[in-house]
Amino acid sequence: MAGYLSEDPTIRVLLVEAGGRDHNPLFHMPAGFAKMTKGVAAWGFSTVPQRHLGSRVLRYTQAKVLGGGSSINAQVYARGNACDYDGWAADGATGWSYKEVLPYFKRAEDNQRFVDAYHARGGPLSVSVPINPLPISEAFLRAGQEYGMPYNPDFNGARQEGVGHYQVTVRGARRCSTATAYLKPVRGRPNLTVSTSAHVTRIVVENGRAVAVEMARHRGPLEIIRAEREIIVTSGAIGSPRLLLLSGVGPADHLKSVGITPVHELPGVGENLQDHLDLYAIAECKGDFTYDGYARLHRTVWAGLQYLLFKSGPVASTLFETGGFWYADKAAKAAHWPDIQFHLGLGSGIEAGVEKLENAGVTLNSAFLRPRSRGTVRLASADPLVMPLIDPNYWADPHDRSMSIEGLRMAREVLRQPALEPFIMAERMPGPASTNDVELADYAFRTCKTDHHPSGTCRMGTDDMAVVDPQLRIRGLEGVRICDASVMPRITSSNTNAPTIMIAEKAADLILGKTRLPAATLRQASPVSSQQ
Ligand SMILES: Cc1cc2nc3c(=O)[nH]c(=O)nc-3n(C[C@H](O)[C@H](O)[C@H](O)COP(=O)(O)OP(=O)(O)OC[C@H]3O[C@@H](n4cnc5c(N)ncnc54)[C@H](O)[C@@H]3O)c2cc1C
Repeated sequence: MAGYLSEDPTIRVLLVEAGGRDHNPLFHMPAGFAKMTKGVAAWGFSTVPQRHLGSRVLRYTQAKVLGGGSSINAQVYARGNACDYDGWAADGATGWSYKEVLPYFKRAEDNQRFVDAYHARGGPLSVSVPINPLPISEAFLRAGQEYGMPYNPDFNGARQEGVGHYQVTVRGARRCSTATAYLKPVRGRPNLTVSTSAHVTRIVVENGRAVAVEMARHRGPLEIIRAEREIIVTSGAIGSPRLLLLSGVGPADHLKSVGITPVHELPGVGENLQDHLDLYAIAECKGDFTYDGYARLHRTVWAGLQYLLFKSGPVASTLFETGGFWYADKAAKAAHWPDIQFHLGLGSGIEAGVEKLENAGVTLNSAFLRPRSRGTVRLASADPLVMPLIDPNYWADPHDRSMSIEGLRMAREVLRQPALEPFIMAERMPGPASTNDVELADYAFRTCKTDHHPSGTCRMGTDDMAVVDPQLRIRGLEGVRICDASVMPRITSSNTNAPTIMIAEKAADLILGKTRLPAATLRQASPVSSQQ
């Protein structure tokens, strides 16, 4: 967004980020992801006790660094399904149907393999395929087909279903975050200022118009920075509603309950929180078939050398290189709209809180993609430094629970297919003894985790609960828009980085008041069916 807006020398852009710069080499090494859910560059959030998960409090990693989640995520590039966007448009997000957003996905990408009706090259964001997949990843693809899923070379193309290699936001064995793709090339522009370690604590509203932000740089005194044109809130699906609430924009009752005077009542702020919940099976390998062994010092050193010298090996891996999309619900299958996603993790204990086996292991995550449960983001206090109350309200709807457990059953079945026999000794988690729904739900209570895809808390639409209109302007307030995962009316049936980048691509045009799509992109978009 900052990159596009500052193309016009008459626009002065101030980009404010609470976290630091992305100097640490870990951000740039694809496998650096393994450290990212363990506290590097994160806000340190956790959920409130989850009523439908045995009151468990879940760690809730959200990025605090230039580039946000794109600087710490697992680099999976997945757009979701045409039906997701057609659903947005049908619910009031006029202009956001699949046919209308596809050109923006294409404008963003520099796809290293595909150039067709769905893909393009030459954009800022590098989208590539894993450099050197391990033999166990290839075996997983065969196992998926033995289970009954077709091989799919492009989840972001004509169809989403099947097993395949993920496309990843990696260029030349380095992470391609939004900071490296869009910001780094234009950092020298005199009209662009990037202020890091600067925490925005409030948006200042005067006479129905957002006119300034209040912020503290490096924990210093509060400053007020006035906006000449617009304020664009891009603090993410937790950070954006949090900031609005701190500014007195939100449900009046809640604001009063924490001692904040409402300045603009908008009941939808912080409502409609959606996320994907991950369940997983972990199996022990018969040999050193994954990257678990690289935790030992001498192998870490070797992996580092391999990366520095040849740009290959474990450090060049995103650790979740293959996966798939399939169906738990018959209705999803009938609509060709997958509702289960798999990620094959090349090890055990890759993410915080996930069990690490003694010997080499492999993890198969499964997530139900279209939860019916809705949660909230609320304030615990008017103090901007106090952690927000994050309640994804997982499994509040029993349908989510049964679909999640069905997804876990499917993951276990895939791991049992003959193609994986040479690699896998036995399932260790949940373990062969857990078979019925009660045992699997109990296992899920203890082990499930967020897939890190919070969305929807400042929903786009035209009804009373919508927070922004389809031009992403906050309803009823002038001078301010929101542009991040919080505006999604419904969570996409996939990871959320590519959809968020698409939102920013389109938002840049909305803000600048012009469509700058190459004519060829528009031409190619037209024949695509909304069913993908
Ligand atoms: C650990 C992890 C793994 C993930 N893996 C994948 C994946 O493999 N593929 C995928 O597609 N998606 C993945 N995601 C999700 C994806 O990264 C997010 O959907 C995406 O980054 C959301 O972008 P956003 O702009 O909405 O918010 P964010 O990326 O969260 O950016 C918000 C930014 O605003 C800053 N901020 C917040 N509040 C303030 C404030 N008050 N003042 C100043 N700055 C503030 C934050 O520090 C942050 O940098 C992952 C996310 C995480 C956390």
